[in-house]
Amino acid sequence: AADHHADAGIDAGTAAPVTVRVPAKVNVQLAVGGRRADGFHALATVFFAVGLFDEVTARPGEPGEGVTITVEGPDAGVVPTDGTNLAARAAQALATHHGVAADVRLHIAKDIPVAGGMAGGSADGAAALLACDALWGLDTPRETLFALAAELGSDVPFSLHGGVALGEGRGEQLTPVPTQGAFHWVFAVADGGLSTPAVYGECDRLRELAGGPGGADESHVPTPAADRALLDALATGDPAALGAALSNDLQAAALSLRPSLADTLRAGTDAGAIGALVSGSGPTCAFLTKDASDAAAVASALAASGTCRNVRTAVGPVPGAQLS
Ligand code: ATP
Repeated sequence: AADHHADAGIDAGTAAPVTVRVPAKVNVQLAVGGRRADGFHALATVFFAVGLFDEVTARPGEPGEGVTITVEGPDAGVVPTDGTNLAARAAQALATHHGVAADVRLHIAKDIPVAGGMAGGSADGAAALLACDALWGLDTPRETLFALAAELGSDVPFSLHGGVALGEGRGEQLTPVPTQGAFHWVFAVADGGLSTPAVYGECDRLRELAGGPGGADESHVPTPAADRALLDALATGDPAALGAALSNDLQAAALSLRPSLADTLRAGTDAGAIGALVSGSGPTCAFLTKDASDAAAVASALAASGTCRNVRTAVGPVPGAQLS
């Protein structure tokens, strides 16, 4: 019998699977401006891609099947497998943009902590964009991929970009930041996640407590800007200077919602970390160390401290989403 899909340009049955590897991020600076009229906050954030990876594999689906998602890994049970998964939304957005059918089976091998402030969902969205683009032979210009990424979420463009970059606007307007050498990180993963909107809400509440009514608004909070000392530390590859310059305006809010994170931060600092902060909206805590052997020592002290669920070490910066 004639194969009636033969003219579709894509041979659904035989196209080879495509796998994309994508890193987690830590915000080495996260400056949060006042709440805008639209409810968003202007940011000046320095994203740093670290060597903890998810892998997204795209395989052809049957015509009319739509997007299906499967997930493996220790946190697989808490990752949605319906249309709300950022990888599914990415596949759908790319298909809609090109007017093609979004028939694809996406498999996520998840190693990035879920709801940990390390942009795991955004990473999978970026990976799915690249994987579906290759599977469907679309050859989408990089500029278009970045525009689609920005519509999916503020952190998705950085997951495509990788390395180190300054994010402005909602974090989606990226400028590459020059760096030298490798930095050695330790991550303390907490039990249970923190919701990003809840942490922003708590940040506003704390600002109003301190500054009175309107205290969280744009007129009261200074316009966020990149920190010169932090950029210099990255440019010269100076871990001690970077450790001293780490900052996160959401940290007080994350600590307010999860006071036990103070114990985690102290445990890592006591063990010799040269910098410590909550990663993004938390609750993962990130520790910068001088070298690989200090990272191993801080990791084992944290594991023994009983202040976190799980400890990971990672080196960065690393590239963004890439076909593997
Ligand atoms: P960010 O650092 O960007 O604020 P996060 O690392 O705190 O994000 P994610 O791991 O991205 O958080 O997950 C936040 C929520 O998003 C999860 O609780 C989950 O319900 C949903 N989600 C959607 N798609 C995914 C995905 N592919 N992987 C993980 N979570 C996802």
